[in-house]
Amino acid sequence: MKILIASSEAVPFAKTGGLADVAGTLPKYFKEEGHEVFVFMPFYKPLIQENIDKLQLRSKLKHKGNINFKVTLGNAEMQSKAYIYEYMGISYVFVEKDEFFKRPDLYVERMTVNGIEKKADHPDNFERFVFFSKAVLEIALAMDIGPDVIHCHDWQTAMIPVFAKSALFKGRFRKIPVMILTIHNIAFQGIFPYSKWFLTSLDASYYSLDKMEYWGDINLLKGGIIYSDVITTVSNQYRRELQTKEYGAGLDGLLSMNHAKMYGILNGIDKEEWDPLKDEHLHPLNYGPGNTTNKTKFKLAFLSGELGLEDTENMLLSAVTRLTHQKGIDLLIDAFEELMTLPLNIVILGSGDVDYENKLIYFREKYPRRFAFRTGFQNELAHKIYAAGDFFIMPSRFEPCGLGQLIAMTYGNIPIVRRTGGLIDSVADWDAAKRTGEGIMFKHATAADLLAAVKTALSLYASMDFNTLRDNAMKKNVTWANSAKEYLKLYRTEGMMK
Ligand code: ADP
Repeated sequence: MKILIASSEAVPFAKTGGLADVAGTLPKYFKEEGHEVFVFMPFYKPLIQENIDKLQLRSKLKHKGNINFKVTLGNAEMQSKAYIYEYMGISYVFVEKDEFFKRPDLYVERMTVNGIEKKADHPDNFERFVFFSKAVLEIALAMDIGPDVIHCHDWQTAMIPVFAKSALFKGRFRKIPVMILTIHNIAFQGIFPYSKWFLTSLDASYYSLDKMEYWGDINLLKGGIIYSDVITTVSNQYRRELQTKEYGAGLDGLLSMNHAKMYGILNGIDKEEWDPLKDEHLHPLNYGPGNTTNKTKFKLAFLSGELGLEDTENMLLSAVTRLTHQKGIDLLIDAFEELMTLPLNIVILGSGDVDYENKLIYFREKYPRRFAFRTGFQNELAHKIYAAGDFFIMPSRFEPCGLGQLIAMTYGNIPIVRRTGGLIDSVADWDAAKRTGEGIMFKHATAADLLAAVKTALSLYASMDFNTLRDNAMKKNVTWANSAKEYLKLYRTEGMMK
């Protein structure tokens, strides 16, 4: 099959969250199964070049040519260029448009208002991603790819199925590709004011209640849900939750109506990137299931060295996360003082809401030898934290899949998770009688439930059961292989129905 993946981010070139892992890792598995894969993403500058240099990828990229293309946004005809590179047998197409994609941050801009740092969405996100969505189709045509499948991700590329099936592109593809949309997080729908509608070049009939109109605004994800042949989401539990009022974020009714074309496929992790046996950031203290002596040595060295903590043998509670309401960071903050009365240390790597960052900075100043807090997106540090941690906390209010808990398990860092979404599908609660399970789960999104779970963790940490728990976690199969097979099956079945 010829598989085209369109995403606003993909590892190793640009990443802000789990979406990048999915869009960058699945192609490798598709390639291994003999398929031809094209990944389309915006050419973010200078980020992509910086990542290529940082990861020393230049010699691994083969330039395959450039494509000039034209996109119409409202009255403007925009000429631009795409750069095609082969990387590990996969074609990456970087879509250039400097006025849209040459910025320090992918989706938000930072500003200082009255001395306080704030973040806000780029005001032209609509233009940026409508441009990108049209560009993907124009370039695919110019390259004469003839894709069997176009797999889109989240609101940024949700317009691709809409455009492809509209008069703008209808009949221009040699064969009609299967259009798949994966919803990674329903909290982000791409909602924009009606005043921007003309930029789509779609006729007015598309702006209606049963299409893209949403409470007087435009909802890009809604368009994708209606016009794609298949919708997938990143866990079965989240698929079910999305059809409920509590989790559907206003689109539950629409998703229920479309349930017959909805599938849940759990994410996995890339074992080439996340494997404590081979992880270069741990060298020479690599470790694996059944032998965690080096894990302990690594933890002690890392805590007393890089993190500057004391009582390094105490249980280490860790987190690598966006600092947002979704991730339940406020629960951790509410429980913080009480957590500090327990014999444990905490390390958090995360960035996000400035309020949360400031509270965590306050705690760092108050407990400098017990709590390490680092901000920014720091991949190497993330590796070290996964390795050093004894328990990994994810108090998420909702969690479509979650990659943190999957990585943590592989590193023998036991997840403490709230019972929601993909966390339910991927972590089993420790059962002391049966000695099964690989995590600790709690029910309510409250500081009290979180604290109780951490206390359970502390008693397990002190018991003989801890080794079994850690072993169970490290042996859990969390790789992409199964998920990739499920996606391929779906592509094939849908393709046959075309
Ligand atoms: P989401 O995509 O909702 O942010 P996931 O758990 O699905 O959450 O994926 C988050 C991914 O991003 C994980 O691989 C996690 O390790 C990584 N990550 C999150 N914050 C940071 C950070 N500040 N630095 C490095 N990696 C991070």
